[in-house]
Amino acid sequence: MDSAAATARCEQKARYEANKLAKRLRSAVGAAIADYRMIEEGDKVMVCLSGGKDSYALLDILLALRDKAPVRFELIAFNLDQKQPGFPGHVLPEYLKSRGVPFHIEEQDTYAVVKRVIPEGKTTCSLCSRLRRGIIYRVAKGLGCTKIALGHHRDDMLQTLFLNMFYGGKLKGMPPKLVSDDGRHIVIRPLAYVCERDLEEYAKARAFPLIPCNLCGSQPNLQRQVIKDMLQQWEKKFPGRIETMFRALQNVVPSHLADPGLYDFAGLKIRDAPFPGGDIAFDEDPLPAEGGDRQRFPLKIG
Ligand code: SF4
Repeated sequence: MDSAAATARCEQKARYEANKLAKRLRSAVGAAIADYRMIEEGDKVMVCLSGGKDSYALLDILLALRDKAPVRFELIAFNLDQKQPGFPGHVLPEYLKSRGVPFHIEEQDTYAVVKRVIPEGKTTCSLCSRLRRGIIYRVAKGLGCTKIALGHHRDDMLQTLFLNMFYGGKLKGMPPKLVSDDGRHIVIRPLAYVCERDLEEYAKARAFPLIPCNLCGSQPNLQRQVIKDMLQQWEKKFPGRIETMFRALQNVVPSHLADPGLYDFAGLKIRDAPFPGGDIAFDEDPLPAEGGDRQRFPLKIG
């Protein structure tokens, strides 16, 4: 085979793999949207774009699903230009215009506020996020959006669970859908079933014009990095473990945890009839093989 033919063959294979990945991602996002009823008829969804791979992928997949979905909904892309030094303000508008997506760019110098308020060397993320959140809610209201879509994926959600467990003493993750803290918005995470590695591949295949995420000069969150490394090592050693753990989040048994606020342990009484889901007391629960029984996602919305 000559080199031109070999190159053509490679390109064809790359296209085939990229199509397969795109289908898998659309299917996973469609399933998450359906399972949590994230998007309904008539919704106007504000898709928050940071310029990173996750939010580009989120918008791209939602655009593809919108064109085929059985429900009608609108998408509007949103970016907050926080005036970080070196932020290339032209990149997102140019991309969004090229895709024909309606968008809103909000310019707010939160960078200067954070620098002024937080002493040098201290972590700036919590104030920065708080400011950003307030602006997102205000803009969503102004634009008449009924949903706010964020680009967090399955791995972010699991990392948050372990962060809260290890450092906060709480069994609390990052939900696929929630009411915002001001009570006025529904926030959705349509990438809840998508793993980060697939998003990296997808961003490469789609050649998104990525904007670096360290422009603010803040140190990366070391605790999150520790958890991320831990999960990646587990996954390497026991393939499928992350997916199994995510499924555990969807399969909670409050009577077998220890939160008296979640389950009425104080009021427990014996009963004559068998108790469905009751404990087998001193026997161990049979466990399925690790990585087995994988979930399959249907492609549907609504
Ligand atoms: S990394 Fe920078 S931009 Fe992101 S939340 Fe922290 S301070 Fe804000």
